[in-house]
Amino acid sequence: MIEVTFQTQPDGIVFHQTPRHKRFKNLTGEVYGRLIVIGFGGHKQTAHGSHQKWWCRCSCGKYVLAQHSNLRSGHTKSCGCFSAESRKMRATHGMAHTREFICWRNMRTRCAKPSDKSYKNYGGRGIRVCDRWIRSFQNFYSDMGSIPHGKSLDRIDVNGNYSPENCRWATPKEQARNTTTNRIISHAGRSQCLQDWADETGISCDLIYARIKLGWSVERTLTTPTRRW
Ligand SMILES: [Zn+2]
Repeated sequence: MIEVTFQTQPDGIVFHQTPRHKRFKNLTGEVYGRLIVIGFGGHKQTAHGSHQKWWCRCSCGKYVLAQHSNLRSGHTKSCGCFSAESRKMRATHGMAHTREFICWRNMRTRCAKPSDKSYKNYGGRGIRVCDRWIRSFQNFYSDMGSIPHGKSLDRIDVNGNYSPENCRWATPKEQARNTTTNRIISHAGRSQCLQDWADETGISCDLIYARIKLGWSVERTLTTPTRRW
């Protein structure tokens, strides 16, 4: 007959007094993977006999009741966090060759790595990747989803950071237009983006852009009224 006493811990863990017989192996203090055994958790009766259970503290901070044989065999090495991390790694790794992952990686590189050829236009201009996206590809992917056919990552405000609020998947044409409408144009002693000049003058963005492309001066572009038909 095994003598069992109960002791309730503040966090709800119940330790059982370790049985006092010679063949009983006390695992308290032993380390198995991420787990350290902190006390006896009692016996559990199953169809195959009686199992000893041990309370363990995981390196992640969680407490878990593990089976003696699973600890000894190396089957149980964490509270479950290790498997969860491995699954996550596999999921991420499974996407390592996808366009989304490459897009995420390149975004981080051009904002953070001065040796990158595009750095001067991104990190060098103060463009950053938000913390949520720097931290994980999973976050980026869950916010942005799959890249629609023919589109790529675009910042709505070209001077803004890479963040869920400022990013979308856009076609090259949409991107060019976005770059255009955000282009800063100086005229009459003021500098503002093309979109603002369009709003102010009533001349459409497309026409302003077309005129400048045709070689018109900024002055002429913004002061020549739109022809009325
Ligand atoms: Zn853990």
